[in-house]
Order: sequence, then C-alpha cells, then structure tokens
Amino acid sequence: MILLETEALTRAYGGVVAVNKVDFEVESGLITGLIGPNGAGKTTLFNTMTGLDTPSSGKVWFNNKEITGYPAHKICRMGIARTFQNIRLFKELTVVENVMIGRHFKTGKSETKGRFLNAVKSYVKLKEEEEEIYEKALDWLDFFDMEASKNELAKNLPYGKQRELEIARALATDPKLLFLDEPAAGMNPQETDHLMATIRKIRDLGVTVVLIEHDMKLVMNICDTITVLNYGQKLAQGTPHEIKKNPSVIEAYLGKD
Ligand code: ATP
Repeated sequence: MILLETEALTRAYGGVVAVNKVDFEVESGLITGLIGPNGAGKTTLFNTMTGLDTPSSGKVWFNNKEITGYPAHKICRMGIARTFQNIRLFKELTVVENVMIGRHFKTGKSETKGRFLNAVKSYVKLKEEEEEIYEKALDWLDFFDMEASKNELAKNLPYGKQRELEIARALATDPKLLFLDEPAAGMNPQETDHLMATIRKIRDLGVTVVLIEHDMKLVMNICDTITVLNYGQKLAQGTPHEIKKNPSVIEAYLGKD
C-alpha cells in the first residue's frame, strides 16, 4: 500500500528549481532511502512534504488524502514526524522532558477556561495527561536504551545519543511515517551501527521510515527501496542492488568504487 505520494512536486526559489516535478512514492512498512549529491533537493523535498515549505506546484497525498500546502502542525497530527539535518534538541531540558515535548506536539494542552469547577476538572485532567505523557516518554527511552539517562540534560548526552533522542522525540508523536534527515551525520562507526539497528527496530514497530543519508553503507544495508535525486529531478528508483548497478547513479553520485 502506498502511504505517501507526490505528483510532479516542484519548489523553485527564483531561478533555482530545487525540486523539479518529482513523483515520489513511499510504500507502507518499508524503509525508503532518498539519496543524491549535495544540493540535489533532498531536504527541500522533505520540507515540502512536511509543511515546512510550500510547493510551487504539484501535489502531495498521505493516506489517500491530499495534504498539499498543509501547515507543519497539522501534518504532524495526521501522523508524519521528522528530524532535522542539524540537531534541534532543547539542550537545557532533561532527556525525558525532550521526549515529553514530542507528545505535547501531538495532543496539545487541555482547555483550562470556564467556571471554577471546569477549571479544576481541566487541571486534574491535565495532571493525568502529564503522568501519561511521562510514562509514555519513559517507554520510548527504554526502546532507545536511554532510560538511565532520563534526568540528564540533553546537552550532556554523547553526540550519537543526542541524535537518537531527536528520533525518540519524533516517535513520541506516534507517527505512521517518520522522515529522518541525515540521521548518521557526524556519528562514529559504532554509533552508526547502533542507529542502523534502531531504525530496523522502528520499522518493526510498524512505522514507515524515509531517510536522507550520505552514508552508503547504512543506506545499502537497511533500505528496502531507494530513490535518487539529481539536480532536483528523480534520477532512479529501485532496490539497493539495482541502484548500486545503475550507470546514471554511478556517474552522478556513487562513483566507480
Ligand atoms: P545536501 O545533501 O547538501 O543537504 P540537498 O539535496 O538536501 O543537499 P537542498 O538543501 O534541498 O539539497 O537544496 C537544493 C537546492 O535548493 C540548492 O541549490 C539550494 O541552494 C537551494 N535552496 C534550498 N533552500 C533554499 C532557499 N530557502 N532559498 C534559496 N535556495 C534554496
């Protein structure tokens, strides 16, 4: 089943056509890689699908519903979460608080307006929600083997763990689809291996994953299917095996060795 689809999606900045009539498909339950040279339009494609940027033309569907031009918070609530190329944690908050914030993005706060009794009821509900959100955040930390660090400040985590914490925060919104923008950037080989195992575990939870990545070992190892962009256009799409052998992809991006 196709979970997300774009049709001739285009984003131009003045004369620069960053994404040029791209038809991109994400099949439910798979790990999809999005690769290509620097400046090929990968992040812009992510941004136009997740509401961080508005397409110049073309369409986006998610779960059979057209979502073209929807704002980011609405897209998040519909079940698409993402991480960014540069780490965007709340560094002065604790690890568990960072994950709890992800949950708040999804649920929002209870209404506290109204008469006194309503206000009290809302307050109690808010407290209950807080506890539920805290427990759920601990479950996610457990999933990432990070529960022991729950009260540490996010800025004190090792780099690889900070990157995984961002993924935990995105998952706390309970997405059907998770976009990861260069999740392995800056990681050492051990951290990358751990990340690979984590992404597979996320897929096994039933969350569909799309990742932009320059680390070809990671991409070729974990992706079920890969789309290649070059100069804003789709150059190829196929299994890792097909992509590795594709002469135009070798020429534009992978190189001969
Ligand atoms: P990288 O692998 O280096 O992250 P990318 O494939 O993600 O690259 P994009 O960041 O999407 O590529 O950029 C595609 C093109 O669009 C580049 O030429 C870039 O300079 C241009 N571009 C992106 N965002 C903007 C913007 N806000 N204003 C003007 N040009 C932009």
